[in-house]
Amino acid sequence: MFTPKLNFKFTLVMSWLLLSIVSRAQQSAFFVWETDFEHALQTAKKEDKSVLLYFSGSDWCKPCMKMKQEIFNSVSYKSYAAQNLISVLVDFPRYKRNALPNEQIRQNEQLAATYNEKGIFPLAVLLNASGQIIATANYKPGGSLPFLAYLESKIKPKNQSTTHSFAAMGSPFEITIVTSPEVNANELIAKAELEIRRIEKLISSWDHHSQTSKINTNAGLSPVKVDTELYGLIERSIKVSRLTGGAFDISFASINHIYTFDGSTNDMPSEEEVSRSVQLINYKDILLNPLDTSVFLKKVGMKIGFGAIGKGYAANMAKKFLINNGVKNGIVNAGGDLCAWGAPVNGNSWKIGIADPSKEKPFIAYVDLNDLAMVTSGNYERFIFIDNVKYAHIIDPRTGHPVRGLKSVSIVCPDAELADALATAVFVIGAKNGLAFVNQLENVECLIIDDNNKIMLSKNMRLNEE
Ligand code: ADP
Ligand code: MG
Repeated sequence: MFTPKLNFKFTLVMSWLLLSIVSRAQQSAFFVWETDFEHALQTAKKEDKSVLLYFSGSDWCKPCMKMKQEIFNSVSYKSYAAQNLISVLVDFPRYKRNALPNEQIRQNEQLAATYNEKGIFPLAVLLNASGQIIATANYKPGGSLPFLAYLESKIKPKNQSTTHSFAAMGSPFEITIVTSPEVNANELIAKAELEIRRIEKLISSWDHHSQTSKINTNAGLSPVKVDTELYGLIERSIKVSRLTGGAFDISFASINHIYTFDGSTNDMPSEEEVSRSVQLINYKDILLNPLDTSVFLKKVGMKIGFGAIGKGYAANMAKKFLINNGVKNGIVNAGGDLCAWGAPVNGNSWKIGIADPSKEKPFIAYVDLNDLAMVTSGNYERFIFIDNVKYAHIIDPRTGHPVRGLKSVSIVCPDAELADALATAVFVIGAKNGLAFVNQLENVECLIIDDNNKIMLSKNMRLNEE
């Protein structure tokens, strides 16, 4: 005999078991006939499925009844459909007792006019998520398997997502691409990684043999002829300097050596040292000669560095390589500098989280990226604390001091390189003027979080509200 208490517990466990079995069954093979065509298309798009229209005369057409029984009611159709199809019943009953609502009759007639002009019953019409016909099939005896094999041969194999992570430019990188199964995705990503490593070599200021290092060691001495690629990057960097009134300046590197942002020391350089070095920062002293693509830094001791634009450039170039090789969907994450195109396997756009600088929750907001880049500059990854004041690794070129006041700046725009440079620039410019500045630019939006955790958005910045 169960005691009442045990009995109660037993019932609880049983109902829990039942519930979990039912919900698991629903997840794995939940099959329903859809009757709303528009809704079916929407779902098909969202879930990357095809649509099957079943034209039936359920109460007068014998072959229709057979097709339903042998094919659509079979376990194999139901489980295949649950994964791959949205099945739409387009019924034309004749008996009054089976009459459909007027609205439904109108929709079905319209569907017949579009997809079953000859009025064939039964007829299965396979559509893609945009409503275009992929295949049609009549009833043939022989069960569900030949029918399913036919559908499968017509439905385009589903895209697959492939991701690869690696370290480059002192940061974690991750590339994800969405391609059809016959594409060798790993090989493509490996080549995109090589492209990033090639760029790293070109722009590194650590590598003494790089062209960038050559420019720096010849500062005040002689111009250095460089590849058009590096020349172009420097030219565009100077353009951003002009655009941002010098807030972004690759010659910040002239004074970078007086700071350490890796936590090895908490000492700040003396005011004297700062003011001596800050004179070396000036993008106007980077002289370009387009005739021989040479670069000359005017003053001895001057240096340039691409810490605030290089990852964005690398992300752009990896994306370009992949697109040129036929990859229609992907996202490159270059140490937090993101650039996305196309769409993920499930969904229309890449949903990206903006990190919470105070790390209370993983993300403070979400953004949908459709052929857009998003770059965040923050003071929460590389910084120093001095007398309890947090300093970011971004330097104000006017004062030579590390910038304070903001926790993070995220820029969204079509170009990762520009987004990277602008995120750094707005960090220097500050929240109020930074917002006003971004609001003047077309196709550039931003989200700023200040030291008091206040979140500010530019005019057209849209967050994903989910
Ligand atoms: P992260 O490297 O964390 O993505 P940023 O894109 O803002 O952040 O780049 C910061 C780096 O940019 C610094 O580590 C430094 O190398 C460089 N930098 C610092 N201040 C400036 C500046 N005013 N203009 C251009 N580059 C800068
Ligand atoms: Mg940057």
